[in-house]
Amino acid sequence: MQKLKPPTCEVKIGDVWCAVSLDEAATRHVMATKRCPACYGQVMILGAYGSPTVRRTMSHRKSHTGCSLMPRTYSGTPSPHPQALT
Ligand SMILES: [Zn+2]
Repeated sequence: MQKLKPPTCEVKIGDVWCAVSLDEAATRHVMATKRCPACYGQVMILGAYGSPTVRRTMSHRKSHTGCSLMPRTYSGTPSPHPQALT
């Protein structure tokens, strides 16, 4: 059983991808490149920047059916993003 974790994404800091909360990504790493922790596709953070109460969500720049974090488009079989960031 997996515990529910707070939503995270990965931001590129220097040459290293770091997992951070969506809040952190949207406030402390606004300009950094962000990717999905499951499929490594590039993502953007939706939600009002600068507000501490807003609920943020992650959106893939190119949607991808092999990403288990996106139940609406997930095909049921995990696969890496065709344009995965490394
Ligand atoms: Zn993804």
